[in-house]
Amino acid sequence: MSEFDLIARYFAALGPERPDVVLGVGDDCALLEVPPGQRLAVSIDTLVSGVHFFADCNPEHIGHKALAVGLSDLAAMGAEPAWATLALTLPAPEEDWIRAFTLGLGRLANVHGMHVVGGDTTRGPLSVTVQVHGLVPKGAAIRRSGARPGDAVFVSGTLGDAGLALRRMLSGEPVAPELRHRLECPAPRVALGRQLRGIATAMIDLSDGLAGDLGHILTASGVGADLELERLPLTPQVAAVVAATNDWSLPLTAGDDYELCFCVPPAHIATIGPLAETLGLPLTRVGWIRAGAGLAARAADGGRRTLPARGYDHFPAAVDGAD
Ligand code: ADP
Ligand code: MG
Repeated sequence: MSEFDLIARYFAALGPERPDVVLGVGDDCALLEVPPGQRLAVSIDTLVSGVHFFADCNPEHIGHKALAVGLSDLAAMGAEPAWATLALTLPAPEEDWIRAFTLGLGRLANVHGMHVVGGDTTRGPLSVTVQVHGLVPKGAAIRRSGARPGDAVFVSGTLGDAGLALRRMLSGEPVAPELRHRLECPAPRVALGRQLRGIATAMIDLSDGLAGDLGHILTASGVGADLELERLPLTPQVAAVVAATNDWSLPLTAGDDYELCFCVPPAHIATIGPLAETLGLPLTRVGWIRAGAGLAARAADGGRRTLPARGYDHFPAAVDGAD
């Protein structure tokens, strides 16, 4: 199959048709209509084989996750998904792989009403780049910089499941299917993000662990926060590891949760419980924003510890003294 046959067969009709796509796949550029009063929210992510997923990972899940991570960024701004572009680098044009990949990606695109409007297909080591484009009313995007002392800090879902799945897969231990699903098929919290417009003062999606990602909100907002460790929402599997080891790194610094962390001023806190009910998604208060700087964690025994506000870093700074 030629490159152009592949594009026509697998990439030309991914996701539902949208009236704001004036011209989609097939020309040199796509032509897109941004409605008046809306802003375009744009984000791009690359998943590299062997770094972000195992080379033998089910291609359907790779397709799902490649779009999910971008959708999670749109969710974190309160944006509505609209369009995506897809740059795919493949060692060989294996049709079975491409069919499964586009099935996974297309299914999630359909769920969120998102249309793939273009892309690029090249030969080389397996890597997937997806750029997502969303729409958000002018002035309504939820940034990292709006948190204020007295705001409550909430997270959606549960924390550390993907990290536990990855840890078990790397050490060759058996992994419960629901844990593995959390790593390979994350559900971006798009509806939650949109519903938090006008409510949340600051928001971020949890891709690198709560400590580091909340740390980004704190830095951008010029505030500090106190976390209540015993309130962190954990599945029984993650809770068991924490209880056995007294090591909180799974919920605090393991990546790939793709939950949302958001700050809510006191006047709006009462709206969060009903929102959780409506969405069927746990929304848990895990701490408070305070004046000052840095993230402190309070354990059930009342002891305070300062946390390393550090998530995964692809380019960690060289250790002092090393050459
Ligand atoms: P050009 O050489 O002008 O950049 P290409 O030959 O790369 O165009 O692509 C032809 C058309 O197919 C373009 O509209 C491009 O956006 C689209 N396309 C190519 N690869 C993909 C892909 N993986 N997914 C979606 N659209 C793609
Ligand atoms: Mg061209």
